[in-house]
Amino acid sequence: MDGQQFLSSLPSVDEILKSMKGMEWLRAYPRRLVLPAIRKAIEASRRAILQGDIKELFIDDILAAAETEMRGFYSFSLQPVINATGIVIHTNLGRSPLPYDVLENVIKNAQGYSNLEYNLDKGKRGKRHAHVRRLLTGITGAEDGLIVNNNAAAVFVCLAALAKGKEVIVSRGELVEIGGSFRVPDVMSSSGAILREVGTTNKTHPQDYLDAINDNTGLILKVHQSNYRMMGFTESVEIEDLVSIGEKHDIPVMFDLGSGCLVDLKPYGVLTEPTVQEIVKTMCDIVTFSGDKLLGGPQGGIIVGRSKVIDIIAKNPMMRAVRIDKLTLAALEATLMKYLDDEQAKKEIPTLRMLLQDLEVIRKRAETIASRLNAGTINAAGATAGIEVREDSSRSGGGALPEVEFRTFAVAIKPVNISINQLETRLRHSCPPIIARIKDDTLFLDARTVQDNEIDALVKNVVSAMV
Ligand SMILES: *Cc1c(COP(=O)(O)O)cnc(C)c1O
Repeated sequence: MDGQQFLSSLPSVDEILKSMKGMEWLRAYPRRLVLPAIRKAIEASRRAILQGDIKELFIDDILAAAETEMRGFYSFSLQPVINATGIVIHTNLGRSPLPYDVLENVIKNAQGYSNLEYNLDKGKRGKRHAHVRRLLTGITGAEDGLIVNNNAAAVFVCLAALAKGKEVIVSRGELVEIGGSFRVPDVMSSSGAILREVGTTNKTHPQDYLDAINDNTGLILKVHQSNYRMMGFTESVEIEDLVSIGEKHDIPVMFDLGSGCLVDLKPYGVLTEPTVQEIVKTMCDIVTFSGDKLLGGPQGGIIVGRSKVIDIIAKNPMMRAVRIDKLTLAALEATLMKYLDDEQAKKEIPTLRMLLQDLEVIRKRAETIASRLNAGTINAAGATAGIEVREDSSRSGGGALPEVEFRTFAVAIKPVNISINQLETRLRHSCPPIIARIKDDTLFLDARTVQDNEIDALVKNVVSAMV
């Protein structure tokens, strides 16, 4: 057959629709998805014929292409994955997993109406912040609290409310970039505040702040360095000293804490992460932090501090643009509730539980996975890979605790029949996808972040990826 004959033997959309396959598709998928998929597959074949790429015309190939297109379109893009990276607060993987009862509270409040902005006592309009205010103040010791969409928004709205057109004094050592797009100088300029850098990258002294204060100073800002640490010849000004400078000159002081740790991690060897409570105690006017980093809740930005400053921020028109939605609010209230008891928080909030879990528990999980993988791969295709449990270290991630290495156990895999990159790619495309890490030409499945109820799927997918 030549090209012209191929072209005339191409099926029409209508013919395919009326075929068995077409009728099957119309039962399984919406019509408005089936038609363009068929059209696209026919068109692709037509183009291939015109370019001389087709030597034989297979209708089945056209049908398969159409089906792949439909299936791809009709499956969810956002989907659960198994996090085998060992990084607990993994921003790309959605940061903090939420406990089931927290999600139940979301369902309860979202499937019908709620008193989101309705005061049940007074029978009139209320405030959405009211639902977590008692928890934020009760847990952190602050006078008042607000919540917004995320911590970047919290910083932005605080700057806009307290320092628009005014200077904000920040140490050069704290002009950090966090996770790609949050850069302190950029947030500052878009809020309308004027950045007043003081000190040097490695050293800033109290006198640097004092020298920078003038009639147009609106705020003193301290920023948690989050995902990096400076070592050696460094010096920064403690928040206590900034607070006394602020008090003396009647300038509010704000600390962008980033992580928002609400339980003391010192007993676990984490010595560098202050709790929100400790910072609030210094009488710092404003503290901002994320809802989904060390706090382990939904994405959110939390602002706590002194009433008179919180009042000013609450009135800023930008609050409306960065307001928290009701699903998040329901999840945040339920998460914060757990913090009324530290032990409950550490047990029931997955982020904290995974970070603080006993090394022995991680080792056992890694051994379970390894032995099941060994059994599975041998059964399926003979001994096809080197699989063993290795001690390793994982990180908290999420711009928190960069210098803290958490000891962990991982299943180390060296496949023989396929390359390490092939294995990694196949796992990424399995259902559910498995995100692993490659180091020293070995694939590591870190047992710290694998949930017990994910082990079956993990083992099944890894075994089928290797054979
Ligand atoms: C993570 C972080 C932010 C940004 O918080 P998001 O919740 O990601 O918006 C801002 N400041 C610091 C210090 C952080 O660590």
